[in-house]
Amino acid sequence: MAKNIQAIRGMHDVLPEQSARWQFVEQHIRDVLSAYGYQEIRLPIVEKTELFKRSIGEVTDIVEKEMYTFDDRNGESLTLRPEGTAGCVRACLEHGLLHNQTHRLWYFGQMFRYERPQKGRYRQFVQLGVETYGMADADIDAELILLSHRLWQRLGISDTLELQLNSLGTTAERVVYRELLVEYFTANVEQLDEDSQRRLLSNPLRILDTKNPDMQVLVEAAPKLMDSLGADSLAHFQQLTETLTALDISYKLNTRLVRGLDYYSKTVFEWVTTELGAQGTVCAGGRYDGLIEQLGGKPNHAVGFAMGMERILALLENRQDLANIQTVDAYMILVGDAAQKAGVVLAEKLRDSVPGFRLQMHCGSGSFKSQFKKADKSGAQYALILAEDEVVNETIGVKFLRTDDEQRTVSIAQLIELLDS
Ligand code: ATP
Ligand code: MG
Repeated sequence: MAKNIQAIRGMHDVLPEQSARWQFVEQHIRDVLSAYGYQEIRLPIVEKTELFKRSIGEVTDIVEKEMYTFDDRNGESLTLRPEGTAGCVRACLEHGLLHNQTHRLWYFGQMFRYERPQKGRYRQFVQLGVETYGMADADIDAELILLSHRLWQRLGISDTLELQLNSLGTTAERVVYRELLVEYFTANVEQLDEDSQRRLLSNPLRILDTKNPDMQVLVEAAPKLMDSLGADSLAHFQQLTETLTALDISYKLNTRLVRGLDYYSKTVFEWVTTELGAQGTVCAGGRYDGLIEQLGGKPNHAVGFAMGMERILALLENRQDLANIQTVDAYMILVGDAAQKAGVVLAEKLRDSVPGFRLQMHCGSGSFKSQFKKADKSGAQYALILAEDEVVNETIGVKFLRTDDEQRTVSIAQLIELLDS
């Protein structure tokens, strides 16, 4: 026998028994985003490699070692998107959406990174991306946080998540800070691990992000970016924290939160949980005013975040009530030739008459007993039973699969009334 072909390492199927959970989360995402007036944008999965190099930056984990890059048949270098922000800005520039306008956008889809697969870290994963353009003040930064917080509440996971906040100031402020930091780490260079020594020249802020336990003391004592911020950046940060406080959203100032990318400015934030081990960040974002110009547009304002769906789903894993989300309301059992013919007509009539009614038909023949087993397994509330008598009398048997109510035979009109109630 031929050997089965398996999925690629780190790339997963979502099986039918899990897809109801995904849809549950996706529905809440759509509801919450529309409650704040956000519009969906759909973007290609493949972009020119150059786009990611220019936006994410050459000295980042993503560009250095995580991208799925290949040559197209005509020799052009293309990349499976590792994140959505670059493509979103590219699309907005290409279609002139950033000229004297504001936008609130979202997208949902697969991202690809060549990482070491483990729980909460995959090579194909799904992100919700939310991006806003054209708004300078911290009210929009706050709105993004409020919106994500509302989503956690809807999903019942707000207790497990902590909001961490920092401000990265402006590029000019970071230049000053960068010098202080390089000075500090250079004076302690013997305590830096290999990765950090490399970053000392290329991306020293990223050293603050290190997960190496041996470097924690050193990093804790490093100069703080907050202390290098000017009045405007501080006021922006204060506007944000005041709004959060007024709305009772607690946060923790994390001066080591740097997000690694050069284009960030002012606000950065992460929603973090302790329930998922090392992969604790479920949602991360911030202001990236520098990126639009970096990609060739006029300077403009941008704030956004990306949320990892698999990590959200992992947080919901223990929710028993989501284990068996019902996907059908009724299952129709058909006994005999006449019932098979009449059943399909009746089923269409029921779907016409009862909005939202979800009915699964028995297809093919089978004994009453085997059909009944399938009805039970389908998760339906009712089995609708059609045999010769019912066809002749234009009635139908209703058996309640999840309650003790007695089986009854009703007219079609009565059935519609029952289902509609
Ligand atoms: P990490 O520090 O966990 O590698 P990151 O900084 O690379 O995260 P972002 O690029 O900010 O992550 O992506 C936003 C979110 O997308 C993350 O907070 C996480 O929830 C999710 N995410 C990122 N990479 C992966 C992955 N390989 N598998 C699953 N989810 C991921
Ligand atoms: Mg990463």
